Amino acid sequence: MPFVNEKTYQRYLSEGREEEFHRLFEEGLERMELGREYPLLLREEVRLQNKFEVRSPINNSLVVGVFQRGDQSNVKEALRLAKESYREWSQSDWRERVELTVKVAEEMRRNKYLLAATITYENGKNRFESVAEVDETIDYFNYYAQLLEENRGYVRPMEGRTMRGEEGVSVMRPFGPWLIISPFNFPLAITATMTLGAVITGNTAVVKPSSDTPLSAYRLVDMMLRAGFPKGVVTYVTCPGEEVSKVLDHDLEVAGFAFTGSREVGHALLKRFIELRPRPAVLELGGKNPTVVTSKADMRKAVEGTFRGAFGFGGQKCSATSRVFVESPVYGEFIKQLKARVEKAVIGDPRKRETFLGPLINRSALDKFRRFVDQAQSDGGRILTGGRVREDKETYLVEPTVIVDLPYSSPLWKRELFVPILLVKEVKDLKEAVELANDVDYGLTAGIFSQDQEEVRYFFDHVQAGVVYANREVGSTTGAMPGVQPFGGWKDSGWTGRNAGGPYYLLSFLREQARTTYQ
Ligand code: NAD
Repeated sequence: MPFVNEKTYQRYLSEGREEEFHRLFEEGLERMELGREYPLLLREEVRLQNKFEVRSPINNSLVVGVFQRGDQSNVKEALRLAKESYREWSQSDWRERVELTVKVAEEMRRNKYLLAATITYENGKNRFESVAEVDETIDYFNYYAQLLEENRGYVRPMEGRTMRGEEGVSVMRPFGPWLIISPFNFPLAITATMTLGAVITGNTAVVKPSSDTPLSAYRLVDMMLRAGFPKGVVTYVTCPGEEVSKVLDHDLEVAGFAFTGSREVGHALLKRFIELRPRPAVLELGGKNPTVVTSKADMRKAVEGTFRGAFGFGGQKCSATSRVFVESPVYGEFIKQLKARVEKAVIGDPRKRETFLGPLINRSALDKFRRFVDQAQSDGGRILTGGRVREDKETYLVEPTVIVDLPYSSPLWKRELFVPILLVKEVKDLKEAVELANDVDYGLTAGIFSQDQEEVRYFFDHVQAGVVYANREVGSTTGAMPGVQPFGGWKDSGWTGRNAGGPYYLLSFLREQARTTYQ
């Protein structure tokens, strides 16, 4: 059965119900109950002495919620529960797990706009991107349920025999409790793919969200528990990163570790984790994603796709387009049209329907933006457009920025910036473009604009990235959908080689047991 994606906005649009979409999102904003306190979710709800406030990047006088400041003892308690509940959960029927998963997807659909509003308040995503993230989350639930079903719980009789009376079955089995650590930029979808990847396959999961965005993860775990996932199978702990890493470093009860975040943190944690004992880990890390525009490109698509890929959610996507290599004959025209497109972008409060670009996540991202713009200039680059911070003490608005003429010796060509800064370079041909595209440690996504099939094939065959697109107008390197574009990175952008939302993802959370019986 082909997988069907949620695609809310496109559906409303095609049915001529755009106004209803906007009304529903605005109702979601009203349901938020800003300032409420949220507990840890262990066997019971737990409230601690130490707490922290999460303020919205939209306006830092808005308190999104008050959360418990846990420490390693709370992570250990969650782990103890995860170990206890693993005994029964790992023996549960996969059909039961599929059923629960589909129930959560339905519950999420019912609460779609509250979840989307939560993302907008937590990390400043505009409404289209927030609803798309909830859609992606629902897709993960439905897709992994379908995958487990199609694979009959990954139980497969073996056809080979070496003697009469021999019967073999391959059974994929879980490992035990997993620690899940998620980033701020997809606080719902990415927390969901890792958490569900673990528990739908019979593992248990302790979820530690980003301290900038703990509410989306709270709602996720809360909905899973309400739908019937047993207590302890999934738990939720808010604490500083260092507290959870102390447990990773020292506790052999952690059977597996799933992390999405920066390369620096991910690599450091992984090394320490496997030093104690080699164990499975799922890592999705940063990117420095290239787009190539050849002289055979449809210029309108190339400009729109690059603009959306680079500046959707302010470049704060691991898949954001951050480098563009343009063939000489069309370079002048491309940057002229790109500049005009970028200058039309509406920057402001992401709760408003016309806003394309909301604030950066926090002050340190704003400082980073300033530093990189200065560095681009001192390294010899020129600002084609943007470069300024919108001075406002209560939020973190910056202009989408395009840098040209930056000498290739600048370290900015290789470093993930994670703010809305795009570097554009003229190249002599496709071969040079692909060489430069590959000249980084990362290998997450990549895009090309060319109407020539031979060029597209050359690009796909030679570019080093886990997700590649040709002529994608909705975002040259961004916007992967579960069941359509499995999402994961090569080189320093990943670890397992099995992409999220794809046919092999769940295998990262499983180990094979070959069972043979003799008559
Ligand atoms: P980050 O690495 O700063 O943080 C990620 C998570 O790790 C957070 O929960 C954080 O609290 C935790 N953490 C930080 N330091 C820690 C420590 N010392 N010990 C234990 N935990 C620690 O990343 P971020 O800023 O939240 O997210 C942005 C990064 O994530 C970018 O590099 C982006 O490319 C990457 N990302 C990758 C993907 C992907 O699928 N490849 C998706 C989204 C984001």
